[in-house]
Amino acid sequence: MTAKILDGKVMSAELKAEIARKTEELKKRGVTPGLAVILVGNDPASEIYVRNKGNGCEETGMLSRTIRMDGDTTQEALEAEIDRLNADSAIHGILVQLPLPKHLDEQAALARILPEKDVDGFHLINAGRLMTGNPGVTACTPKGALYMIKSTGVDLTGKEAVVIGRSNIVGKPMAMLLLQENCTVTICHSRTQNLAEHTRRADILVAAVGKAGFVTADMVKDGAIVIDVGINRVDGKVRGDVDFDAVKEKASWITPVPGGVGRMTIAMLLANTLEAAERTLSRD
Ligand code: NDP
Repeated sequence: MTAKILDGKVMSAELKAEIARKTEELKKRGVTPGLAVILVGNDPASEIYVRNKGNGCEETGMLSRTIRMDGDTTQEALEAEIDRLNADSAIHGILVQLPLPKHLDEQAALARILPEKDVDGFHLINAGRLMTGNPGVTACTPKGALYMIKSTGVDLTGKEAVVIGRSNIVGKPMAMLLLQENCTVTICHSRTQNLAEHTRRADILVAAVGKAGFVTADMVKDGAIVIDVGINRVDGKVRGDVDFDAVKEKASWITPVPGGVGRMTIAMLLANTLEAAERTLSRD
């Protein structure tokens, strides 16, 4: 079997067109969705991510604001900036670009963002809402990955889902989302024994490890849906966590890297910002 490709470029373009249409409607009602990104220091990868987020806002007609702070910014100054944005009614989404310089407390900074403006979905309140099945803001990468899985049209109820990775930003929220879809979910990590025995059971396999080509064909069940979250730079090229060429001969659906989940992450960030702006209208 050769897998069908879950094309993040096509899917994210469709989503962005839909977001642009809804943004236009919201503007007619007097609200322009606004996203503020705080960038501390000048990490080159972060610069690229921040620029892509700004471009996404421009494409969809949203207001975008980038707040650049020096690499030696204090925690106090960072939190004062977050407070200002929390109080700014033109801003519906606030994102602190991670990683922050080592002297800053990431958790404290994320906790400072109002949960309703936390469009990354990293605030403990939003993580807790996801855990307890209450409506909240869902982290963009797992939300985008689930969107891709659902686009296959496969009924997820009762399916075996295996997530490799247990980070707070990808692995754990991904597992929660799959659980909500009534999958039987296994979370694997670096201490998991006999990893391949778990992954070979998976109807849906999500790799969020951070190791290029980590998932090989012998770890994959025939006909599985394989979602590759990994972004690894190897010899100047971006590669996923999955050995794409070999695994695509076994899977039924697969996401490429680049052009897969990464594209969906930004689309979901815009979707979360739009939803945050829409909520301000329903509160009035
Ligand atoms: P983390 O480093 O926080 O987590 C990696 C996870 O992989 C950990 O839970 C770790 O286990 C597990 N792991 C590491 N080695 C092994 C192993 N040998 N066997 C099984 N599990 C292992 O990474 P993130 O979750 O932040 O990101 C994962 C990947 O996804 C990265 O490549 C990252 O760049 C990418 N990413 C992509 C995004 C996108 O938009 N597409 C967005 C965010 C991330 P343990 O907990 O035991 O250490």
